[in-house]
Amino acid sequence: MRIYKFGGASVKDAVGIRNVGKVLKTMGTDRLGIVISAMGKTTNALEIIIASYKSNDSVYLKQIDVLYEAHLAIIEDLKKPSEGIDDESLVRFRESGIDKDLKAIIESLKGELLRNKSRNYSFLYDQVVSHGELMSTRIVTAFLKACGIPVKWKDARQLIRTDNKYRDATVDWEQTEKQILEQCSDELFITQGFIGSDENGFTTTLGREGSDYTAAILAYCLDAAEVTIWKDVPGVLNADPRVFKNTVLLEKIPYDEAIELAFYGASVIHPKTLQPLQRKGIPLNVKSFLNPKSVGSVITSSKHLVPTTPCFIVRKNMVFLRISSRDFSFIGESNISDIFHELSENKMQVGLLQNSAISFSLCIEDKYGRISTLLKGLEKKFKVSHVTGVSLFTVRHYDGDTIEDMEHGKNVLLKQRAQDTLQLVVQD
Ligand code: ADP
Ligand code: ASP
Ligand code: MG
Repeated sequence: MRIYKFGGASVKDAVGIRNVGKVLKTMGTDRLGIVISAMGKTTNALEIIIASYKSNDSVYLKQIDVLYEAHLAIIEDLKKPSEGIDDESLVRFRESGIDKDLKAIIESLKGELLRNKSRNYSFLYDQVVSHGELMSTRIVTAFLKACGIPVKWKDARQLIRTDNKYRDATVDWEQTEKQILEQCSDELFITQGFIGSDENGFTTTLGREGSDYTAAILAYCLDAAEVTIWKDVPGVLNADPRVFKNTVLLEKIPYDEAIELAFYGASVIHPKTLQPLQRKGIPLNVKSFLNPKSVGSVITSSKHLVPTTPCFIVRKNMVFLRISSRDFSFIGESNISDIFHELSENKMQVGLLQNSAISFSLCIEDKYGRISTLLKGLEKKFKVSHVTGVSLFTVRHYDGDTIEDMEHGKNVLLKQRAQDTLQLVVQD
């Protein structure tokens, strides 16, 4: 069995969806599970819809209509003649009932909001945002089927069982493995990334960008031979090409190195993806959906990074905190324990920390907009200064030149060097 994952960028429009068909025809569809994310920026749009709904703004209904129309427009595009798609396929797609299916998903989305009685924001979030993946997988499945690729649609909520930590659910591996083994014996299937369900059947999500993780869960449970995630870049590069010039393709990456890169924030792979694959020695390919036959990157149990080169990661919009005690006491175990309690209560992600006798410095990501609650909590006991909107630069395998280049012309608030990793907190 092989697992493919197509992210939002690869299915953002009709051209992308037709290209998925091309990739499948080029690479073959024997014993293949396919994971698909929501189209383009649909999840962001759904987040905005929830925010409007929560602020009692009826504009959310209009926003749903806009999203509906955007998906309908993609369907209409797919109905049009295009190179490589024959007339019978187009007729089959037009008659597939996809318009009705999309309408039903939109009705279900509106229903979730109109019927909602829960005050739990994260619960509502998961019931709503999951509709992005439901729409994309329905459309892609209908199109591929019409093109003669006999793919079965599966509901990931029947496959992936999680706890009820909405928005960041934890997988129940035992139950998930059982469900996947029972239901995924088909030779060729499509399912949604990012979503699962709890024991009461409510939808849960695995955290933003979690579709890579879904691919890894399926691969682990099915003992897959390999996973390929198809991207708009040639593979994993030594830096994000949107931010850095002259990037280099990393051809072979040891699992541990890839885990470090993802952990420090290389957004090309979701950090939770790699450990399940490493456990079973399943290679992860990262390849370009525009050049399916090109080499790309492979993450395996190889010993060394090939080529060995410095790797750069930047996380923007972080918060820098400097914490010291009010009573001249040193920052020791009990103070640190209080600080971490507050961080954990507010679901902050720590990117870097450094302590001295009298102060504790942290660079954190405020994923859930809770910085003011965190500061209030900390200020009860500590003196706290904070700077928002800072960037955290991480360089793996740095050398003397890279340190100079990185620091040049920047307002560095904190610098930390470990054997293989250099980190700088920079004020923009
Ligand atoms: P999708 O959601 O479609 O799977 P993403 O947009 O999440 O894809 O990931 C692809 C993007 O990740 C690329 O367009 C690139 O800008 C960015 N990226 C960040 N770091 C790296 C890196 N080290 N190598 C390659 N791409 C990277
Ligand atoms: N659609 C989800 C998101 O945008 C999951 C994913 O794309 O991986 O976060
Ligand atoms: Mg993504």
